[in-house]
Amino acid sequence: MKARVVLEKGQRLDDPGTVATGRCLCGAVRYEVRGPMRDVLICHCVECRRSGGHVGAYTAVDRGDLALVEQRGLRWFDSPDSDLDARRGFCAECGSSLFWDSPGRATISIAAGTLDGPTGLRTAGHWYISQAGDYYRLADDGLPRRSRGGGNESDVTSLEMR
Ligand SMILES: [Zn+2]
Ligand SMILES: [Zn+2]
Repeated sequence: MKARVVLEKGQRLDDPGTVATGRCLCGAVRYEVRGPMRDVLICHCVECRRSGGHVGAYTAVDRGDLALVEQRGLRWFDSPDSDLDARRGFCAECGSSLFWDSPGRATISIAAGTLDGPTGLRTAGHWYISQAGDYYRLADDGLPRRSRGGGNESDVTSLEMR
């Protein structure tokens, strides 16, 4: 099932491949998604919080479904203590955090806040609550919580794609 098409200024309706678009704050990184997007996971891990300023909120797409339309600002940084040897993609011009990428995975994660709305997505759960900050309370939202991450790809892809 495909998410609703989100058009940007100048983009044509007859471009059937684009499901969603997104960008960093300044526009030096812009991307298109050309396939289904996974529901959003809120990640409370230390590295997401430090790199983004607060919790991470990520959807994920098949690697081949992410098209970088503008990448002059894009830099990659190896997340120092990642369980999954992940690297993080950010904009060197404005500092926005955009991507989380672990080499063994079929999917790449996209910071949900960088998508142009409406996204059609919903939040599916909380990860790494064992590393949550002490300055906020976890919302009592009834969503599943995991002490750590999902671990393997099958856990990730069992989540609904939209
Ligand atoms: Zn930027
Ligand atoms: Zn995290």
